[in-house]
Amino acid sequence: MICVLSGGVGAARLLRALSEYDPALDLRAVVNVGDDLVMHGLQICPDLDTITYTLAGLNNEEQGWGLTGETWRVMQELGALGGDAWFGLGDRDLATHLYRTQRLHAGSNKTEVAAEIAHHFQLGVDLLPATNDPLATEFHTEVGILSFQEYFVRHHHDVVVTSIDFRGAAAARLTSQAAEALRDADRIVIAPSNPLISIGPILAIPGVREALRERRDDVIAVSPIIGGAALKGPADRLLRELGHDVSPVGVARYYRDLVGTMVIDEVDVELRASIEELGLECRVTTTIMKNPDHARHLAAVVMA
Ligand code: GDP
Ligand code: CA
Repeated sequence: MICVLSGGVGAARLLRALSEYDPALDLRAVVNVGDDLVMHGLQICPDLDTITYTLAGLNNEEQGWGLTGETWRVMQELGALGGDAWFGLGDRDLATHLYRTQRLHAGSNKTEVAAEIAHHFQLGVDLLPATNDPLATEFHTEVGILSFQEYFVRHHHDVVVTSIDFRGAAAARLTSQAAEALRDADRIVIAPSNPLISIGPILAIPGVREALRERRDDVIAVSPIIGGAALKGPADRLLRELGHDVSPVGVARYYRDLVGTMVIDEVDVELRASIEELGLECRVTTTIMKNPDHARHLAAVVMA
C-alpha cells in the first residue's frame, strides 16, 4: 500500500500517474483540509474535490480547477441578487457541496462523506481527509489576517505574507484511517504540492511529523519547484517571502527530518549534490505531469 500526503492539483496529477502506472496498487491519499470553508452554508473541501474530479477524468485542465463543461447559472443569479459571488461555484460542482453538507448535517463526518463521493465516481484511490476536526489555514499579510480563500481567490495570492497559521491544528486529531495509512504503507509519498500550505497543515496535526520521522527512509517527496518556480500557484512566492530557498534544495531543507528521498526535475540536476549534502537521497527525472510520458516516468521513479 502506498500513502500519498496530498494537496490539490499537484497531488491529483501524481495520484492519477500512480494509479495509471499500476491499476492494482492500493493507493491511499491523506488529504489537506486547511483550505476547507463554509460558503453559503455549504461545506466545501477544495483539495478533496480537485483530486476527486481529476481521478474521475472530469477536471478542467485549462482552467486548473473545477469541472469540465461546467455552467455558472446559479452564480450569475446570485451575483444579480447582490450576493457573494467572488468564490466561483459551478452548477455541477454545487451538487457535490450540497451532498456533502446534507450528509454532514445528518451526522456523518468528512471521512465518511469523502468515501461516499469517491465511491460514486468509482475512484480507485481511497481519499482520506487528514482530520475531521476544524483546521483552517490563515495568512498574516500586509492587509491583515486573511482566510485561505480570501488570500487565494479574493486577493489572487498577490499580497505579501508575513506568516501562516493553521488554526485548530494543535487540537485536531489525525483520523484513524489516515493514521493507519501512515503506519501500514510500504512507502509514504509527499506529493508535489505546496509544501507550506498544502502539506504544512497535514504536518501540523499532532503525531504526523513523528509518524514520518520514525520511518524517514520510507518517505519520498516530489519537488513542486522546478527551475526556481512553481508550475502554478503561490508556492514559489510564499517560499521566498517566508525565508526559504525557491528551489528543490529549499524544499528538501523544509522536509529534511521527515524525508529520506527527494525526486527533482532534470532541469535541476545540478542541485543533486546539495540535496545529498543534507542527508537525503536524490532521484532525478522528468516531473512535469502534463506530459503523459513524463507522468509515467515519474510514477516509475517514485515506485522504484
Ligand atoms: P492546490 O492545492 O490545487 O493549489 O495544489 P497543490 O498544493 O497540490 O499543488 C500546487 C503545486 O503543485 C504547485 O507548487 C505546482 O508547482 C505543483 N505541481 C502541479 N503540477 C505539477 C507537476 O506536474 N509536477 C510537479 N513536479 N509539480 C506540479
Ligand atoms: Ca489546495
